Amino acid sequence: MFTPVTGRAVLVTGGTKGIGKAIAQVFASAGARLAVVGRDPESGAAAVAELGARGGEAAFIQADISVAADTERMVAEAVDRFGGLDVLCANAGIFPDVRLEAMSEQDIDEIFATNVKGTMLSVKAAMPALARSGRGRVIVTSSITGPITGYPGWSHYGATKAAQLGFIRTAAIELAASGITINAVLPGNIETEGLAELGPEYRRKMEESIPQRRLGTGADIGYAALFFATDEAGYITGQTIVIDGGQVLPESLMALEAQ
Ligand code: NAP
Repeated sequence: MFTPVTGRAVLVTGGTKGIGKAIAQVFASAGARLAVVGRDPESGAAAVAELGARGGEAAFIQADISVAADTERMVAEAVDRFGGLDVLCANAGIFPDVRLEAMSEQDIDEIFATNVKGTMLSVKAAMPALARSGRGRVIVTSSITGPITGYPGWSHYGATKAAQLGFIRTAAIELAASGITINAVLPGNIETEGLAELGPEYRRKMEESIPQRRLGTGADIGYAALFFATDEAGYITGQTIVIDGGQVLPESLMALEAQ
């Protein structure tokens, strides 16, 4: 049996939409207090209303994680509100697609600014508060794309998601001295508003390529994040977990057809 996370203060970057919102909902359902971070206040207000409807205490903090001062302020606001911080879910990320031959310097700078620099700045800003918690936890949302797989149009994205894993391995050593663990979740294809926009044909083909024949849900990711946040996972750090319905396993199309 896991020790409940009731009352723990949890900050989820990118918690206003998609996977981050689902992670926040899982933590809220487990009784945690939530601060969700994003740039757009409208989706922030909507996410807080949804979290409140589940009976959880939730607040929106407007911040751009690619800006150091914003990450410091977002942590300060969460600490002011909750009296401390126990868990950081460094989840915010962007995934514009562009093939390498058409990729501009700005395309590369923008995606690294949010996905890599933003993740690192968020963790750096949260470190003192997480250390004070005594059981601080960081859960980074990476991806199968980059660390394990590739997809045309997302070479820069894959590079950022692999970079996040390089980051956590050294951060885990540095953070261990403060009793903080840092681990990463690697989602496969997850049902989000963004994915719905890619249309039914994309969805059907993706489902066909997954041994479990379904896309993942945000909650599938949220429960893995919740596990890393428990007291019982306190000896796990610098590690990754793939949550993809078996998507990375088939070595060829024939392996799926032979199922
Ligand atoms: P999403 O629905 O587009 O949500 C992204 C969230 O991040 C939003 O809340 C967005 O809010 C926030 N955000 C983006 N840039 C930000 C910035 N600079 N500062 C602060 N907040 C920012 O995306 P998602 O599909 O849930 O993806 C979330 C994470 O999961 C990403 O790291 C992504 O790489 C990873 N992932 C997703 C999938 C998938 O299938 N969806 C698969 C593997 C990994 P604002 O726009 O208001 O700022």
